[in-house]
Amino acid sequence: MTADYLLLTPGPLTTTATVKAAMQHDYSTWDHDYNAITQGLRRDLLTLANVPASDYAAVLLQGSGSYAVEGTIQTAVPANGTLMIAINGAYGRRMSEICDYLHLAHVDVVFDETTPVTLPRVAEVLAQHPEVTHFAMIHCETTTGILNPIETVIPAMKAHGLTTIVDAMSSFAGVPIAPATLGIDYLISSANKCLQGVPGFAFVIARRAAIAQTKGNARSLSLDLFAQLTTMDAHAGKWRFTSPTHVVLAAAQAMAELFAEGGVPARNARYTANQQHLTTGMAALGFEQIVDAAWQSPIITSFAFPSADFDFDAFYQTMKAHGFVLYPGKVSQCASFRIGTIGDVHDADITRLLAAIAAVGKPVVATASA
Ligand SMILES: *Cc1c(COP(=O)(O)O)cnc(C)c1O
Repeated sequence: MTADYLLLTPGPLTTTATVKAAMQHDYSTWDHDYNAITQGLRRDLLTLANVPASDYAAVLLQGSGSYAVEGTIQTAVPANGTLMIAINGAYGRRMSEICDYLHLAHVDVVFDETTPVTLPRVAEVLAQHPEVTHFAMIHCETTTGILNPIETVIPAMKAHGLTTIVDAMSSFAGVPIAPATLGIDYLISSANKCLQGVPGFAFVIARRAAIAQTKGNARSLSLDLFAQLTTMDAHAGKWRFTSPTHVVLAAAQAMAELFAEGGVPARNARYTANQQHLTTGMAALGFEQIVDAAWQSPIITSFAFPSADFDFDAFYQTMKAHGFVLYPGKVSQCASFRIGTIGDVHDADITRLLAAIAAVGKPVVATASA
């Protein structure tokens, strides 16, 4: 038995005891009761996204979040299409890498990692590339914690006639999103982020009129979202191939707990309060956040090392001994670390965390010379 740490990470994250307990049942993937749980989850995902079941469908896919990103790109974009990707961090770059694996034409619009994607730059590049058919961007770029402005960019891409893909992996269910109003054709997320389930599957909320036209596009059998949706629709929630049964039970429990909390607005309010408490407390301890507060998401925050000789590994180990698991940094241009504020994490946890950081101090790397 290992100790339970509070995971201050962007997923897998700390789940409730009741979500973990929900996994203590074995189901057959052919069983009607089990498939009814999948159907309930699919309906609830549409409710969370505030989209009508006549226009959108939830497709669940085995694997981590990247599987669904890869599945969406190859299902949505035909071999002769061109995907434009707005990139300001590792997850945007991952989309670009997926296109390379698929030998799919793509136009990357690269921004600085510490600034958000902006519509004027995207529109300018688009004007130079009339071959572009599809557009993709990241909502919360978990690399830094920046919340990109899908509210301005997506409607403009839609108005230009492009099919739109949003990676809302780390924001869906924690930040309100209006796919129908914005014109999002494919919205991607996974079970183990703001939904507060455990890892094992991802999902795509797809506009039916868009995905209906994608038959035969996929270059991979397992990641064919059109085929996955067709099977789920035709067989009342049955997954193609083995589904992660225990993970689905945990997700159904997590969904019930999300509604009991008050839905996305209440969860957003809790995460926002966590994040503000964290950054205020960290600033008082001498840790500055890297992202401008105007673009900072409530999901995860990047902090610059307080000094050039700050020893993150020592800090990480000491914080772990205090029961808190922090997250290494991912910003290319400066030394940083991250603290997530999502999951079953509450104000009292942030108070305890800040007290522990104050007690630990700022370990520095011992220099060789005396
Ligand atoms: C977590 C995450 C993913 C998926 O990562 P996996 O490790 O494959 O689950 C994709 N995009 C964003 C923005 C994420 O935060």
